[in-house]
Amino acid sequence: MKAPAPDDPTGFTNPAAALFRDAHEGANRCIQCGYCLPVCPTYGSMGRETQSPRGRINLVKAAAEKRIDIAGDMARPLDLCLGCRACETACPVGVPYGEIFEAARNATAAATPGTPGPGHRLETLLLRHLFPHPARLRATGNLVWLAQVLGLRRLAFRTGLPEKLFPALAALGKVAPETDSPRRRPTPGSVFPARGKRRARVAFFQGCVMDALMHRINRLSIELLREAGCEVVIPVGQTCCGALHSHRGMRAEAIALARRNMAAFETTGADVFVSNAGGCGARLHETDHLFAGDPDREPRARRFARKWRDLSSVLDELGPLPLRRECTETVTYQDSCHLRHVQNVSDPPRRLLRAVAGDRYREMRGAADCCASGGIYNLLHFDESMKILDPKMHAARDSGATVIVTTNPGCHLQMRLGIDRAGLGDRVRAVHLAEILAECVWDNDHLRG
Ligand code: SF4
Ligand code: SF4
Repeated sequence: MKAPAPDDPTGFTNPAAALFRDAHEGANRCIQCGYCLPVCPTYGSMGRETQSPRGRINLVKAAAEKRIDIAGDMARPLDLCLGCRACETACPVGVPYGEIFEAARNATAAATPGTPGPGHRLETLLLRHLFPHPARLRATGNLVWLAQVLGLRRLAFRTGLPEKLFPALAALGKVAPETDSPRRRPTPGSVFPARGKRRARVAFFQGCVMDALMHRINRLSIELLREAGCEVVIPVGQTCCGALHSHRGMRAEAIALARRNMAAFETTGADVFVSNAGGCGARLHETDHLFAGDPDREPRARRFARKWRDLSSVLDELGPLPLRRECTETVTYQDSCHLRHVQNVSDPPRRLLRAVAGDRYREMRGAADCCASGGIYNLLHFDESMKILDPKMHAARDSGATVIVTTNPGCHLQMRLGIDRAGLGDRVRAVHLAEILAECVWDNDHLRG
């Protein structure tokens, strides 16, 4: 039971009261031990207490008690938090940093509505007008593919204009993998039969960016699930998971998206729901948190949340995959923070990689440390993000790996950017786990087809 707000029993009428209701009790659990500081990437890169988990928790507590101003004192340090939740794993007394962070972001959004600036406009465009609309996203993905086929993408970057207009977006756009033909995008409503004996029926989550621009990874994930004995359903009506909305203080939008996904997945009759994106899977895995305290919706949301599994866990459990080729490259793995710290999945991807690479699998120093992609953090705070990404590339180089494997589209893109910035592009590539597994199960023709 949450503590009542000091001057507002409903906790709905002002941001500080809502913050008190949603975060004060959790923040009060902090015993100030500082065990979370060494694992915090922003404390490591900025070296200030206010950019550490403990510092942020203290700011939230002070703002909830109206000792400091939400917009003036709390907003900026919370905005610079990656939301990676490594601090939550490190905390010995179970401070629920994820809940505190989301409550703080909600309070900031309420206290600073319509903050102007290019970052805010980009956020509004992506989170309100693009990500919740699968048809618009697919149309955007199709345009990107067309521009790629016509050579316009390369031409645009040759003019240098994208870098001048949108430097962060251009940096990521430049290293983005080529988009596959829209004809090969898995269609909602499709049912893909299991290969061999059916062992499970799974409903597959396509995501927003993955579906629009990286749907080849979705297609390979579906093929791998079929190979492992799963009948795969693509639910109609599914939409963006709402993770970015939650992290940016757009709680109402996150709830609306969760309701659409619940309606889409619940009727599939699937044994489990599968995501191949660590960040999306984490949001869906915690859907019940969005409905906490709502007696009508929370039990249903909890049932929905419990059915989510990451692709790597399902393949690991149903394996081994029928490997037809040996991986001859040296492989390492970069954890997705939300897969590791929220879904508690860190061994299955590594087991799957050891199965294909054997002793050519190398553990990278600091593999569990955030890469600073942070959803759209790298777009909104490019310089801060690069201060965390660049040292990680030293660790990647030291591992001797020629393939860096990830399990989340944001990390995947960030690794590609890091490789480019470190000048490793001629000998190191970044791939999603599904891609490297597929390379060892099928020949090139099958992968292209
Ligand atoms: S979520 Fe990550 S960046 Fe934010 S305070 Fe915790 S460890 Fe630091
Ligand atoms: S580890 Fe937990 S209790 Fe210790 S300072 Fe960090 S949040 Fe507080």
